[in-house]
Amino acid sequence: MVEIKSDAALDAMREAGRVVAHALAAVREAADIGVCLRELDEAARAVLAEAGARSPFLGYQPSFAPTPFPAVICTSVNDAVVHGVPTDYRLRDGDLVSVDCGAVLDGWTGDAAISFTVGTPRPADVALIDATRRALDAGIAAAVPGNRVGDIGHAIGAVARAARCGMPADFGGHGIGRTMHEDPHVPNRGRPGRGFPLRHGLVLAIEPMLMAGGGDDYRTGEDGWTLHTTDGSRAAHIEHTVAITDAGPRVLTLP
Ligand code: MG
Ligand code: MG
Repeated sequence: MVEIKSDAALDAMREAGRVVAHALAAVREAADIGVCLRELDEAARAVLAEAGARSPFLGYQPSFAPTPFPAVICTSVNDAVVHGVPTDYRLRDGDLVSVDCGAVLDGWTGDAAISFTVGTPRPADVALIDATRRALDAGIAAAVPGNRVGDIGHAIGAVARAARCGMPADFGGHGIGRTMHEDPHVPNRGRPGRGFPLRHGLVLAIEPMLMAGGGDDYRTGEDGWTLHTTDGSRAAHIEHTVAITDAGPRVLTLP
């Protein structure tokens, strides 16, 4: 079921989104060579606790997952695409890290992700992150009344294709509101003019995940959670929670 939000609900979701942005900023600040992934999770936990927000990730167990998720962020390093579990792995020079975070504040949910490099970046990683950001920007630009969900996926897919990047076909964005995953699904490839019609008050998490190797295949890691590229190439994932409004896309997960 798709829930169209009131303007008051959009304002409340903006506050949840702000908490997510602050948590991601704290993670970005803490991330450095030698820092372990659990420490990044602790940095995000501290921001959520300070804001009085709950994590929609912690304890989450979708049907594919073998265990409840143990953290408030996903940390996906190098060939990990999404859903990486924070471990005691210590970041190394040149690592590419994607961090996904959610927060529930006053009953409303925000969901966003960032990708960045640690230490000296590889030029290819800088290009991959840039392409992923451009894919997200294109998807957001298409999130306007009168368009359909397929227009968002079409915009994202065009940027990924031009950058010769693959995307894991089974994963994409989603409606979001009182819970993290609501209808409609927002595929990262779509046909223009197809799918659920966009209108004022619809809120979507838009989240391109690009794989540098160019193929769309992925594999699930031994932890049952982490998605990896099959060719060992690196991946980036950037996400915002976006409200469709008559005044244009309203990004709810900015600081
Ligand atoms: Mg997310
Ligand atoms: Mg999401």
